[in-house]
Order: sequence, then structure tokens, then C-alpha cells
Amino acid sequence: MATRADNEKQLKSSLKKIKKEGVVKNFINGKLVTAVSRKTFENTSPVDGKKIADVVSSDHRDIDKAAKAAMKAFQTWRNVDHKERKAILYRIAENIEKYAKEIGPLESYDTGQPIRFTKKSGALRGPANFRYFADKIIDAANGLTTPDTHHLNYSMRQPIGPVGIITPWNAPFMLSTWKIAPALAAGCTIVHKPAEDSPMTAMILARAAHEAGLPDGVWNVVHGLGHSAGKALTEHEDIKAIAFVGETTTGSHIMKQGADTLKRVHFELGGKNPVIVFDDADLDRALDAVVFMKYSLNGERCTSSSRLILHEKVYDKFVKKLKARVSNIKVGNPLDPKTEVGPMIHRAHQEKVLSYAKIAQEGGAKLLAGGTAPRGKLSAGCYVNPTLVEGVTSKMRIGQEEVFGPFLSVMKFKTEAQAIKIANSVKYGLTAYIWTKDGEKAQRMARDVEAGMVWINSQNVRHLPTPFGGVKQSGIGRDGGDYSFEFYMETKNVCVAYGTHQIPKLGI
Ligand code: NAD
Repeated sequence: MATRADNEKQLKSSLKKIKKEGVVKNFINGKLVTAVSRKTFENTSPVDGKKIADVVSSDHRDIDKAAKAAMKAFQTWRNVDHKERKAILYRIAENIEKYAKEIGPLESYDTGQPIRFTKKSGALRGPANFRYFADKIIDAANGLTTPDTHHLNYSMRQPIGPVGIITPWNAPFMLSTWKIAPALAAGCTIVHKPAEDSPMTAMILARAAHEAGLPDGVWNVVHGLGHSAGKALTEHEDIKAIAFVGETTTGSHIMKQGADTLKRVHFELGGKNPVIVFDDADLDRALDAVVFMKYSLNGERCTSSSRLILHEKVYDKFVKKLKARVSNIKVGNPLDPKTEVGPMIHRAHQEKVLSYAKIAQEGGAKLLAGGTAPRGKLSAGCYVNPTLVEGVTSKMRIGQEEVFGPFLSVMKFKTEAQAIKIANSVKYGLTAYIWTKDGEKAQRMARDVEAGMVWINSQNVRHLPTPFGGVKQSGIGRDGGDYSFEFYMETKNVCVAYGTHQIPKLGI
């Protein structure tokens, strides 16, 4: 296992390379290019506040170039032989593995996410996404045969065209592969707009794709701010669909921006997910899962369970153990393999997360752990001590709003009906987690909870064929398995006559 020193050495070498290249550029039509405006923005690390790089700040002119390149390349890529397309996607997976050592430390320094998680993006999850969708390429075009007495109908799926992919800062590398792999497998070309707060690993990904022999223009990356580059991408007429992962309010903006060009949209948005623990659950396993699902990935995780809804009979005992575990979580430099929680993405987000400790207490909740920033060596970074509050109700702001940090709210219930009422009392509906040994009760809860994904007696364990997505204001559409192709492809029906049917005659 790589030590902190190994990771720091690797990071140093990556930063040296980045410095030598000067500015982080766009990648359009197979070439690294600066923004038309020549403007840049500074990307800093949440670990120590130091500058990582200047990044090109693109606008509608750069998006236009990328969209046109993607449109031109679409005519080729959609017709590339299935076997060849699959081989290229497999080579991308191999190249990602080749760069995995570089990806983990750079992403940790760029986002603050602990290396124990970021190292998996390059070594495991990114390549797995490409291989999984590569294997589905041939079946992706399949449709249905629906014969009638006088006609034979058959359908097929065809790629929708160039698509825009807009990703957030919390797990940038993994999320980009998760969106881009099925798009390419479907035969679409892409323009990727990475989050301005975590732009660094997007270029390694594009390089891995380029070196795999992907034709120029199939994969374009345009860096910039949401309200300029992001907005222009959602408005461009050559871009047929937008796959977006980010905040609910941004999703709403994108829907409006895309209205004039009738964009198809796929949204993976915010959450305020419940974990319901009954008194008959395996409480030791539930405790492990509750802690993991809120404090892993810095709590900056859309699927995290941020509301623990706990049965009154086990409340005191469970909360006592929970408090001990939360207070013991190791906060530190994300490049250290022992670190469990690293710094928040930036200062403003750190302040936002900390402000919720105050908001929670003003609302009547009791602070049990955290709610502060660590002092001493870590104060240069955007750290937040793992926070736990109890006595939360659905009427409080802390019971409603997404904090997106290492912050868990505990709520109490007595009956199944109460638990469901609390769980469903928010505008979000991404995931829910149910802990009970009573199988029938678990099924009733799974049926009644308003969420796109439910795990029973488990933390979030991702299985690529399953549908991933949220209900209510947590999203529109599903990813995973064939669901991804439903978004990136159009279904075309062909109706063929046997020559036996009547044709109505006019004008005789
Ligand atoms: P964000 O919405 O602020 O930004 C996401 C991306 O959208 C960035 O690339 C940004 O530049 C771009 N953007 C901003 N304004 C835009 C506009 N007007 N038009 C086009 N693009 C625009 O989100 P964030 O703060 O980066 O990420 C955190 C959020 O993402 C949280 O709410 C979290 O729950 C959510 N998230 C959801 C999932 C999921 O699967 N449901 C997964 C990860 C993160």
C-alpha cells in the first residue's frame, strides 16, 4: 500500500508536469487549446489553500467549437464497427489503470477526498464503468419486433447525437466515467464540462481516451464556470442532450436554459437521505453502515444518509456508541492513507457546513460532536470536524436542507408510520436505507419510502446493471445497465407492410 510519502511524491511529480504545461487547457477536436478569450481562473487546493494551476475560463465561443467538433465526429463515431468501438473502450479502461497512480493523489489534492476513496476511482471504478458499457455495445441497438396482421413493426435504438456532460466536484473522476462510458458505447460524441472546483483529473481521463485511439472530436473537454461555459453548453443547438450531476437548483436552471433547443435532460441532484434503524436490527452492522454512509467521502456524497431515524427503544444505546465512533474519526491530510475525513472542497463550503451546526442548535437540536474546524496544522485547509446532532425534527432547517458534509442528524421514532412520515417529509428522494431483521416490515418500508434507491440491511453498494437515480427533487431519469442507453439513444420504429392492407382512397 502506498504511504503518505509515496502519495506526496507522486503528487509532486504531477504538479511539476502541470506547471510545465502552463495553463490547464481545453481539449477540442483532439487538440489542447486555450480559451478564445484567453481568460483563466485559478484552481486552489482545499488541503492548504495553495494554487494548483490556472485553468482556461471558456465561454460560448469555445463551447461552439467543441460542439461543432462533436457534431462532425458523430457522423463517424456512430458508424464505427461495434467490435472496434468496444476495443477502444477497453483500451480506455486499460489506460485509466495505467494512470491510476497519478489520478488518486491529484484528485485528493484537488478535492480534499481521502486517498482511500480516490485511489479506487482510477484503479477500479473508472475502468469498470468503461468495460461494463463496452460489453453492452452490441445489445444497446436492439429493439422490439411487434408484428400486426398486415404489418411488421420493428424498432432499433440509435445514438441521439452529441451530448453535453456536466459534472460536480465531489467525485469528479468516477462520476465522469460513469456518464461518459455509456454515452460513447451508445455511439454519441461528448462535450464534457468538469466542475471548476475540481478540474484536474478530467484531462488525465481525456488523455487516456485519446491514447486509446478515439477519433478526434469524439471526446471534448471545455473548462469554465457554470454560468458561462456550462450555460452555453446547455443552450447549444448541436448538443442533443445534457447529462448533469449537481445541485437541484442548478438542475432547474439547466432545464430552463435548455428549453429553447428542447434538450433531453438527465439529472442526478441533491439528497437528504434517511437511514431508518429499527430496534430489531443487527445494531452493530447498522452502526458501521450509518457511520460509513455519512462520513465516507467527506460526507460530500449525494447518496449519503444524512438523517438517522432511530427507534426509541434503542435510541440511547445506539447514540452513545455513535457519538464515540464519530468523535474517533480520523480527520487529516487526504493523501494520508489513514485519513478518514479530509477537507471540504473550498472555504465557502467549509463555512456553509460549519454554519449548519449553529443553524441546528438555533433550531433546537443538540450538538453531540464536531461543529468546529480543527485547530493547529489543519487550519490552513478547509476542514470540518465530524459533526453529530440529535433532537432533530422535520420542522427544523437541519431536518430539511442538504448540508453535503460530514454532518449527521439523529431523529427519533416509535412506529413504522412515524418513520415513513419523517423519511418522506423532505423535497428530496434519492436513497433510503432500512435496518431490520423483520423481512415483511423491510418490504413495507421499501415500498412506502419515497426514494429512487433503497438498501435493506446494507450501505450503498453499487451494482452497475441496477437503475441509479432519484425521485422528487433528487433527479430525473436513471443511469446504469440498459437505463443509460435509454437516455443516450433514440428509439426508431420501422413499419413494413405485407402488401395486404387497405389503403384509404381519396380524390377518386
Ligand atoms: P453544482 O450544481 O454547483 O455544479 C455542478 C456543475 O454544474 C459544475 O460543473 C458547474 O460548473 C455546473 N453549472 C453550474 N451552474 C450551471 C448552469 N447555470 N448551467 C450549466 N452548468 C452549470 O453542484 P456541485 O456543488 O458541484 O456538486 C454538489 C451537488 O451535486 C450536491 O447537491 C450533490 O447532492 C449533487 N450530486 C448528486 C449526485 C447524484 O447522483 N444524485 C451525485 C453527486 C453529486
